[in-house]
Amino acid sequence: MSEIEGKVVAITGASSGIGEATALLLAERGAKVVLGARRLERLQALAARIEKAGGQAAYARTDVKRRADLSGLVDLARDRYGKIDVLVGNAGIGLISPLDDLRVEEWEEMIDVNLKGVLYGIAAALPVFRQQGFGHFVNIVSTAGLRIVPSQTVYAATKNAVRTLSEGLRQEAGDSLRVTVVSPGLTRTELADSMAPEMKAQILDSMTKIAIPPDAIARAIAFAVEQPAGVDVGDIVVRPTAQN
Ligand code: NDP
Repeated sequence: MSEIEGKVVAITGASSGIGEATALLLAERGAKVVLGARRLERLQALAARIEKAGGQAAYARTDVKRRADLSGLVDLARDRYGKIDVLVGNAGIGLISPLDDLRVEEWEEMIDVNLKGVLYGIAAALPVFRQQGFGHFVNIVSTAGLRIVPSQTVYAATKNAVRTLSEGLRQEAGDSLRVTVVSPGLTRTELADSMAPEMKAQILDSMTKIAIPPDAIARAIAFAVEQPAGVDVGDIVVRPTAQN
């Protein structure tokens, strides 16, 4: 039996891109997935697709800017399936722009979603993981934090903050909890949709030329999840071969 079979995996940002691909792959491999995002109709359609294929899925409208929503997602996992094995902190936005543009509200939005959203997930799941005696945090960061490029500064800073807190969490977690960070490179998703037009054009051009599909990242997440309990995969980087 696969180590994924029967695991209860909650995923934030499950309504598109990497989160959606992860839900589909893990459900196909026997996980019970608990889907969170703001677009409820997308979650509903995804859950229906998973169930039609013989899988199990629950969903709840989840805005990671609201701490109570993360608690609600963890509660849903426990109420529906009796436990939570994994929380994938995937919800994120990439409002990239040069610092000179002073898009301060967008900086704050990225801090709220990309960093505080992950912290709220930890606040919701950590006490439950402690009580259960097992649990796995998988946080999605970015290669933007490994090779810093202009215009991605604040985005990269939020991602590297999550990298740092994940390592601190790993050290505090003790011998029964696992913590993994996955750094995707350019991946074909809807991430560019909310970018300013000039940035969007540039990113979409690169996406068309070199981006990898989101299930490439889902497979990396599955690799971390499927390890036996005593094996903690710390850090995975998955990028297009052609990415600088
Ligand atoms: P998508 O835009 O396709 O997916 C982002 C997801 O996050 C959506 O499901 C969206 O759902 C959700 N989301 C955004 N804001 C919130 C919020 N406030 N509360 C809850 N959910 C939210 O992009 P990706 O799949 O690419 O993004 C997934 C993660 O991967 C992000 O953390 C991103 O930074 C990271 N990443 C992506 C890369 C890429 O090249 N695509 C590269 C490196 C990292 P909804 O709008 O329904 O709430």
